[in-house]
Amino acid sequence: MNLKDYIASIPDYPAEGVIFRDISPLMGDGAAYREATNRIVTYAREKEVEMVVGPEARGFIIGCPVAYELGIGFAPARKKGKLPRETIEVEYALEYGSAVLTIHKDAIKPGQKVLICDDLLATGGTIAATIKLVEQLGGVVVGCAFLVELDDLKGREKIKDYDILTLMNF
Ligand code: 5GP
Repeated sequence: MNLKDYIASIPDYPAEGVIFRDISPLMGDGAAYREATNRIVTYAREKEVEMVVGPEARGFIIGCPVAYELGIGFAPARKKGKLPRETIEVEYALEYGSAVLTIHKDAIKPGQKVLICDDLLATGGTIAATIKLVEQLGGVVVGCAFLVELDDLKGREKIKDYDILTLMNF
């Protein structure tokens, strides 16, 4: 199965000159969604992952079925103000301005092997912030898995000390 057949490319969205890679056709097809999930599960098994973390919101779509299949937990990393209990936070740069990502303080146990999942690696800012959160809690990031990597944006360089799985490159 060629998973790229299930990614829609939208020119000039959300801004002129940007090609948005839309994963919703992949999620909308049971066989393609399962195939993508299974490939990440195989990788996670090799890495002996004990916990999955995903940043809001599309990281949940990728990370949750992986955690479910492995029979392990999933912890959400969310925008500031969304988590109800005690959190830690990391500020990170966006194209315009900045954002704050948070995680519950008890989401990860020290020493736990963590896989971080998101739909797409662009500049790497989101994943770098998520890695910082996990490490502040004492977690060990054993891998980062994405459906899509945008090669031109060189996000991989921002997280070059970490193991990365991407299922599709554009
Ligand atoms: P980064 O922080 O690596 O620059 O951007 C990645 C984040 O932005 C991911 O959480 C992803 O959901 C979102 N993102 C940026 N560009 C796209 C895109 O073209 N398609 C999708 N599906 N998400 C994108």
